[in-house]
Amino acid sequence: MQNTAEKLEIEDRLLSPLNPQQSEAVTTLDVPLLVLSGAGTGKTKVLTTKISYIVEKGAAFPSQILAVTFGNRAAQEMKERLRQLSPDSDGVWLGTFHSICARILRLHSESIGVAENFTIMDADDQSKVIQQILRELNVDKRAANAVASKISRWKDKGIASDDDRIDGRSLEGKIYKIYQERITAYGSVDFGDLLLLVLRIFKKHPEILQKYRNKFRHILVDEYQDANMAQYLWLRMLSPLGDGLCCVGDDDQSIYSWRGAEVGNILRFETDFPNSRIIRLEKNYRSVGNILTAASALIANNENRFGKTIWTDGESGEKIILQQAYNGFDEAKMVAERIEGLRSRGIRHGQMAVLVRAGFQTREFEERFMAYGLPYRIVGGLKFYDRREIKDVIAYMRLICQPNDGLAFERIINIPKRGVGAAAIADFHARAREKNISLYAAAREISAANLLRPSVKAALEEFVRLMESLRQRKNLRPADMAKIILEETGYLRMLRQEQTLESQTRLENLNELLMALEDFEELATFIEHVSLVTDGPRNYQDDVVTLMTLHGAKGSEYEAVFLVGWEEGIFPHNLALQDGNLEEERRLAYVGLTRAKRYAFITYAANRRVHNQWQANMPSRFLSELPAEQVIHITSGRNFF
Ligand code: ATP
Ligand code: MG
Repeated sequence: MQNTAEKLEIEDRLLSPLNPQQSEAVTTLDVPLLVLSGAGTGKTKVLTTKISYIVEKGAAFPSQILAVTFGNRAAQEMKERLRQLSPDSDGVWLGTFHSICARILRLHSESIGVAENFTIMDADDQSKVIQQILRELNVDKRAANAVASKISRWKDKGIASDDDRIDGRSLEGKIYKIYQERITAYGSVDFGDLLLLVLRIFKKHPEILQKYRNKFRHILVDEYQDANMAQYLWLRMLSPLGDGLCCVGDDDQSIYSWRGAEVGNILRFETDFPNSRIIRLEKNYRSVGNILTAASALIANNENRFGKTIWTDGESGEKIILQQAYNGFDEAKMVAERIEGLRSRGIRHGQMAVLVRAGFQTREFEERFMAYGLPYRIVGGLKFYDRREIKDVIAYMRLICQPNDGLAFERIINIPKRGVGAAAIADFHARAREKNISLYAAAREISAANLLRPSVKAALEEFVRLMESLRQRKNLRPADMAKIILEETGYLRMLRQEQTLESQTRLENLNELLMALEDFEELATFIEHVSLVTDGPRNYQDDVVTLMTLHGAKGSEYEAVFLVGWEEGIFPHNLALQDGNLEEERRLAYVGLTRAKRYAFITYAANRRVHNQWQANMPSRFLSELPAEQVIHITSGRNFF
């Protein structure tokens, strides 16, 4: 037991850095609590401190605390911060909604008939399965992406394929049903399933739900404004009365409605939990006065919002610099030069970020940065694990762990080339469907029944032998396993023989993968990690400029932020102009600007080439919403930093 003096000491250490409202939020433990406040007011700080406070005070064991956040980077960051505050907090269940659900699903998958060794599909896999189905139904497969996103939206809303709300006679409803059957047969789940299936477990097995209700005495949620309906339902099931629930968020930063986020959830908190408490934090600790004033003025143009006060007692600092570029090339050059200018003034590269509205915009910056030898990384967008050779190796790993994984099988059955062509694969598919077995099993049956050409049969038998032999070694460390896969499948030989620049890059990437694998002890853990991360391996140098989308920047902060491409049609995005959802775009602008601590630099180009066509864009409407007082507008190329 802790004595009073120790308790006071803990309280002092944790609470003294906080302002009174933050402190109240940290110490309020028993009622449903919503912390609603603007950017940089310390919401995330409150959450991490609160976890420490609960642990150090002995109010609950670490394993009785559940902390969910959006995005892997945010989760990683929170883990770090927590480790510094409380070294004993290891047992806390901290992660993204998806990773926590994957963990729960792994433990109870059998209770709803899902294979225990299920693999998690990414968007690419998802769209492949849908293409297969469209082909079978004789529908144009170009519809695949649209259908995939429709299915994801249903899942975001908590609507499963067997839900009454899905009309099996409509084409989309029909595809949804077939899709779900098929991925279940593959022993796979997609991202949306992670939540849906856990909801199903909770509904079907009240005793399991009860176990988690008893377990998680405290549930803390960051970025609550971006929770979708399925996530909301999940939280409500875990904490029906909201006691021990603490959500923090900012309605002005809700930027995921296109992915099913329901900002209404945050606005409904008081009705959901009648005895709840709302705490507002108003003091911003992140940005200098000029940046904060400009961001507040910008977001005030939105009509649909709570409205908040936000202030800082820090210096007003540098003004925002707004600069026009002649074209995209010029813009990238301008940014690169500014970055070097800041660097010479002692700001580290790692403290600078370039934020774009859409992924395609990064390329021009990448090229410029490479030319200048300026170190950078791209965050988000699944770059590394999206590369073909990486996906191939992972497909082998998946097939080793889960023989039913039809996508993995199809991906690598003929890589390196074994002479198992499309016709044979089509036969496997037909057999698998007819007998309701996996592709792998179907291939073995067809081969055993002597229905294949002798050369194909021999190749297949060789492949089966190889897989069985690999499977026997699946308990080796993942890095060793990967080396064995690369050698024994002939993958390395294939790349070495190619001797092209491309094959060279692929070999380098595989080396990078081996490095990333060193961090893992088990194959299954690594596979799960890959399915859940969107960032590349962490082995990259630290002190580099970050290039990412505005969406990816949520929750983070940098000394200097470059907001580029502020032109009508780029930002606000063309699609938003078409469907009139400008308020969400403005929230994105607010998120972008409030990432900056000291320097904000906004650019727009007079001419821009988009999809190989030159266009002259109007400057973004958001520029005119920035107060003149806080902005220096440069139309010549002079440098101010
Ligand atoms: P966002 O809305 O962007 O997610 P947030 O409200 O979560 O922001 P934090 O990231 O927690 O804000 O805090 C912003 C910055 O202010 C951090 O650098 C944090 O360390 C600092 N900060 C927060 N509270 C205090 C405080 N009481 N004293 C000093 N610094 C603080
Ligand atoms: Mg935060």
